This record gives sequence, C-alpha cells and structure tokens, in this order.
Amino acid sequence: MTADTRPGSMGRARQRRVVIVGAGVTGLVTAIRCVLAGHRVTVLERGAIPDPGSTSFDQHRALRALDPTDPEGTRRAASAHDRWSELDALLCGSRPGAGFYRRVGVVTGWPRDEASAVADVAAQARLPVELVAPEEFPHIRFPAHSHGVLETDAGVLLADRMLWAAARWLESRPEARLRPWCPVSAVDADTGRVKLTDGTFEEGDLVLVAGGPWSGDLVDLPTVMYRQTMVYLRPPDELAAWWEHAAPSAGRIGADGDAWLLPPVGGTLLKVSGEAACREVSGVDDEDDEDELRWSERVMATRALTDMDRYTVVAVKRCHYTVDAHGGGSHLAQVGPALWARAATGGDGFRTAPLVADRIVDALRPSRSPLMSSTGRSPT
Ligand SMILES: Cc1cc2nc3c(=O)[nH]c(=O)nc-3n(C[C@H](O)[C@H](O)[C@H](O)COP(=O)(O)OP(=O)(O)OC[C@H]3O[C@@H](n4cnc5c(N)ncnc54)[C@H](O)[C@@H]3O)c2cc1C
Repeated sequence: MTADTRPGSMGRARQRRVVIVGAGVTGLVTAIRCVLAGHRVTVLERGAIPDPGSTSFDQHRALRALDPTDPEGTRRAASAHDRWSELDALLCGSRPGAGFYRRVGVVTGWPRDEASAVADVAAQARLPVELVAPEEFPHIRFPAHSHGVLETDAGVLLADRMLWAAARWLESRPEARLRPWCPVSAVDADTGRVKLTDGTFEEGDLVLVAGGPWSGDLVDLPTVMYRQTMVYLRPPDELAAWWEHAAPSAGRIGADGDAWLLPPVGGTLLKVSGEAACREVSGVDDEDDEDELRWSERVMATRALTDMDRYTVVAVKRCHYTVDAHGGGSHLAQVGPALWARAATGGDGFRTAPLVADRIVDALRPSRSPLMSSTGRSPT
C-alpha cells in the first residue's frame, strides 16, 4: 500500500469534516480515501447503501488505461490500476478469490496499420501491452483486417461486490457516518450547506456532490446525458470454461468495431453492448421511442461474438452516464468555495474514481484550503 492510502497518512494535518452526497463508486471511494487521510465523513444517500438503482451497481465494469489519443491521460489512468489493487487488498484482504478486481486483461481491436502506433503510446506511458492475433480469442469477433492490442494489467472490477465491501469497511470506521434513505434537496454553492428533504441540514468543510446522472438536480453544470442498453448472456456449456478462465474484457470489437464485452468472471454473466445501443437523452426518466427489446436487438446485431446465436439472453438492462457538455468525458469541478461536484461521470467513472478521491483529499490539505481556492475543473 502506498503512503497515500495508509490509515492516518495525513500525519498531523488538521481533521476536516466532509459531506458526500451519493454512495456510488465516486462517493464511497472518496469517503474511504478521506477516512484514510484522517478526516471525518458523512455520506448521504437517498436509497440503500449501496443503492441498486445507482449507475455503479452492476455486476462488473472494465478498468483499462490505454487511450491512444491521450498519452498523459493513459499514464494517469495506469496509476489508477494500482490504486484499485490497493483498495482491493484493503477492503477484501489478500486471500485468493476474495477480492473484486480481476486482472484478466483488456483487448481492443485496431486496424492492422494502426496497432503498432497504439502500442507505442502504451510504451511511452509504461503501460504493458501485447500485440495479439484475433485468432487467440476465437469466440470474440474482431473487425476484418484488425489486430488486437492486449493491455495485460487491465481487467474487470466486480462492481456491486466492491460497493458492498466499501460500505462494510466504512460502517466499521468511527470517522465515517453512512446515512441511507436521506435524499438531499438542495446544496448551497457558497456555504456548501446541504439541505435534506426532511428539512434538516448537514454541514462540512468540504461537500462533494457525487449523485451520478442525478447530480444536475443539485448543481448547475452543463452536461450531456447518455443512456446505454446492455445485454447479459450465458455462454453455451461447452464454452463456459473458456469464458471464465481465458477471456479478457474486449473493446472495438464486432463486425464494425463499435461493440464491447465484459467476460463472465467470478460467477457473473457475459455482458455485451456498443455504440449502437447508446443514445442521448435529456433525463433519466425520459421515455425512449423504441422499447428496450429493440435496443437489445441492436446490441446483438453488432455480432461481437462468433456464433452469437448459441448464447442465451438472460437479462437486458439500461443505465445512464453524463459527460461534460463542452469537452466530453468526466469531470470533477469545484462549483463553490467549499463545494465540489462530479456531475460529468463519464463512461470511465470507475477507472477514474481513485483519482477523484485523491483530488478531494488534496483540496482538504491546509495549504490548499478549499475555502480559499478558486472555481476550477480537473480532468477526472
Ligand atoms: C453502460 C455503461 C457502461 C459503463 N462501463 C464502464 C466501464 O466499463 N468502466 C468504467 O470505469 N466506467 C464505466 N461506466 C461509467 C461508470 O459506471 C459511472 O461513471 C459510475 O458508476 C458513476 O458513479 P457515481 O458514483 O459517480 O454515480 P452513481 O453510481 O450513479 O451514484 C450516485 C448515487 O447518488 C445518489 N443520489 C442521487 N441524487 C441524490 C440526492 N439528491 N440525494 C441523495 N442521494 C442521491 C443515487 O441514489 C446514487 O446511489 C459505464 C457506464 C454505463 C452507463
């Protein structure tokens, strides 16, 4: 474990009070990081903790770092892998099979003439990758004339297990107070005062709004919301062992290279989706023109798997993410003297959650009093 995540690593730093709205991955990881840094934390959540209705509550999420268009972001995200491994050990111990992070690798398909350049970006960021022939993964369909770039340190996070482990750990800590069934109705950007729907208030030296796609109800930040449909599949019996033990997570796959999948590790189902099932919406409760069945048919039409007909559709689910209206992607923004918000959660909210937590702890340091610093955004 690094010095940053050791309990009490703040040494003699002043203890601060932190209020976090939302108990998804952003809120819980930040709460843990704040406790480890010696602060007191209250987490307000309108549902249960964890809340099955949150974006984060799913069987798994991919953790990968490689973004060929952003070498600096790749380097930062590579460090987030280690942060997740540390968190895994802290919350679940080191017993084999106990944790929630499975480093099964993430393979992405690239046109053959681009794959080497992608691998070069990884090398610059000191991210271990291998060029692989698509035939090495015979049950995943890559676009014609493509090559695989396998990020070997990347993998799959068992998301709901992580949320449960985080909630249990926080419950055991006297510095943390978890308050489920406490909807927040307003946050004052100047004072950071938080109003609950029952008319009571919470106050902290720093408030983080981590309400996922619902953050926009509490803070005014320009975001665009997307809805995505995911299809959960059971592989045929004869392929179950391959999927469980040999399959990586995969992106830029399917006939057109716009699908992705997460393998059925740790007793989960195989999950498939893609750009064809992603659409802009103006709110979480907006009705789609087409029903969920039609969207799931679009996912199946990506042909992300060879022999897709042999797989059984077990469930279809949709969820939402928000991106910054100007630059896209996820953002942590300081929206008031003591108020921070992650209104733009992005499609990589798990990957970057430890970086958000670091930023919040940094803002709590006496030399960088959040009450003194100016409004700004951070690229996580
Ligand atoms: C289809 C899809 C696939 C994705 N795949 C990946 C992936 O592979 N890798 C990756 O890194 N990321 C992925 N993401 C993104 C990631 O899942 C999200 O960015 C992340 O889960 C957001 O977490 P959060 O804690 O910010 O928000 P949430 O998990 O939505 O949590 C917000 C919480 O705040 C609570 N809340 C809201 N309003 C209030 C209020 N007024 N009062 C009290 N509580 C409130 C909610 O009940 C909820 O529990 C994906 C997203 C989608 C949609």
